[in-house]
Amino acid sequence: MNVSYKTDQKSSEEPELDFDAIVIGAGMSGMYLLYRLRELGLRVRVLEAGTGVGGTWYWNRYPGARFDSESYSYGYSFSQELLDEWDWSEHFASQPEIERYLKHVDKKFDLSKDIQFSSRVQSATYDADNRCWALVLDDGRQYHSRFMITALGPLSAPTMPRFEGIEEFGGQSFHTGLWPKEEINFAGKRVAVIGTGASGVQTIQEVAKTAGELTVFQRRPNWCTPLNNRKIGKEEMDTIRAGYPELFQRCRETAACFVHNIDPRGTFEVTDEVRDAFWEKQYAGQGFGIWQGNFRDILTDPEANKLISDFVADKIRGRVNDPETAELLIPTDHGFGTRRVPQETHYFEVYNQPNVNLISMLETPIERITAAGIKTSAAEYEFDIIIYATGFDAVMGSFDRIDIQGVDGQKLTETWKAGPTTFVGVMVENFPNMFMVMGPHAALGNNPRSIEYNVEWVRDLIAEMAGRDLTLAAARPEAVEQWTDFVKLKAEGLLANEIDSWMTGVNMNVEGRQTRSIVRYSGTAPEYRAWCDEVAAKGYQELNLT
Ligand code: NAP
Repeated sequence: MNVSYKTDQKSSEEPELDFDAIVIGAGMSGMYLLYRLRELGLRVRVLEAGTGVGGTWYWNRYPGARFDSESYSYGYSFSQELLDEWDWSEHFASQPEIERYLKHVDKKFDLSKDIQFSSRVQSATYDADNRCWALVLDDGRQYHSRFMITALGPLSAPTMPRFEGIEEFGGQSFHTGLWPKEEINFAGKRVAVIGTGASGVQTIQEVAKTAGELTVFQRRPNWCTPLNNRKIGKEEMDTIRAGYPELFQRCRETAACFVHNIDPRGTFEVTDEVRDAFWEKQYAGQGFGIWQGNFRDILTDPEANKLISDFVADKIRGRVNDPETAELLIPTDHGFGTRRVPQETHYFEVYNQPNVNLISMLETPIERITAAGIKTSAAEYEFDIIIYATGFDAVMGSFDRIDIQGVDGQKLTETWKAGPTTFVGVMVENFPNMFMVMGPHAALGNNPRSIEYNVEWVRDLIAEMAGRDLTLAAARPEAVEQWTDFVKLKAEGLLANEIDSWMTGVNMNVEGRQTRSIVRYSGTAPEYRAWCDEVAAKGYQELNLT
């Protein structure tokens, strides 16, 4: 289908539409949006702040960055040719390989010709008279487009701690989510890492290999479990390739689109021996199996959760030589799996190395950054390099960085002040013709699987509008309310939603993010898709289409 909205509705005051659709962000969502919307014959432009494609996998080039999902389950599934020609070299590919893959996708589908790099969107204002969005970049360039589709990523607004003196530090400092392209040499250097989430853990285990001295500043420890990565040889890749249809079918059926699926048994329905043997197998198995493929009640029943937490705690004790250090590395404020589980490779053994030191910020908090290093309540440390692995203003933060104004100048930040309200995580009331891919309340998990679904849903909606000569799509208030209530209902009973983390919208480094809100959809992905499929099948009655 070929559609153009450019001349249909033109009046004398109407701004010339530069594009039918502007996509913000050239990560995996934005790249696929471009591919699918261009197929409709739309004039599409992707605006990307970076200088290359990849989004998360462009910015997070910190040492040790790699997939925590199986590589072959994380790539795009839409093109058989792409599946046929791309070989993954490891079960969990590293950032350089992932970036190479996304560059290959870019080249194969000739995407970059419609991607405008070094283009950070500063504001986006809905023009009700002309049913379009007016976007302004930070360098002043302006564009008008019928549709605006955000492909911002849920974890793309890095946040720094609010310590005094950060600017005074005389050495080099980096945030993991804004890592430079040049290689950083740690050999013989005194390096500090602040933060022990998934990014910190990957960084620490890599930097520990070469740093002269590595000091880890940990606030709350996380429950880390082994990634158990390994290389993929040619023969194994051929087998994986032959199994792609079943693999993607499996990802369509599991709760969070991973290859791992919840075990239907309850923790206490099996004997102690069966349970221990199962957990031993999970601990020795790959990736998120122990988190996403565990007994059905470990993330909802406090007793079951305590048991698996004790199991993992004992594993940590068994791997860290110094008992005091081991206890510091075991979380006591939340149970296993209630925050995102970092995946590790010899992470705990790093603390047995003579060049590695662990500082608990719960015992001796950082007071300030100094010109020479870091001052805690107990001591002053000198460093050559400080790495901030302090995370992101997740889910809503990337929206907040753009001044988005809908009908009557209503600001998105105001609309979402008490937590996001959306229709299927794709639309927001009073923000017509704005669609979100991987926005709040959409199904997350093994993200590319949800990205492909979301993009195709948006593509189908736009195609439907084009077919019926419609220029405006607005979410009805009752539909937004119904979906938001459903998201809240699905959040009930999940232990993770009772814990502070980015998954519950908490970030102590950001004003207004001190209390929990329901930012994620916690139902299953199949349920999510069933809901969205029904909306489409019934002709989008939840939307005002005119
Ligand atoms: P994160 O999980 O939010 O961890 C941030 C870390 O920094 C936490 O340990 C936090 O401590 C600490 N921190 C933040 N502010 C601090 C402060 N002011 N003082 C002391 N410590 C502070 O962020 P992340 O590690 O970047 O990971 C975010 C998410 O990105 C992950 O959960 C995951 O979904 C995704 N990710 C994925 C991969 C992958 O798939 N391969 C890799 C990396 C990240 P507290 O816990 O005490 O707040």
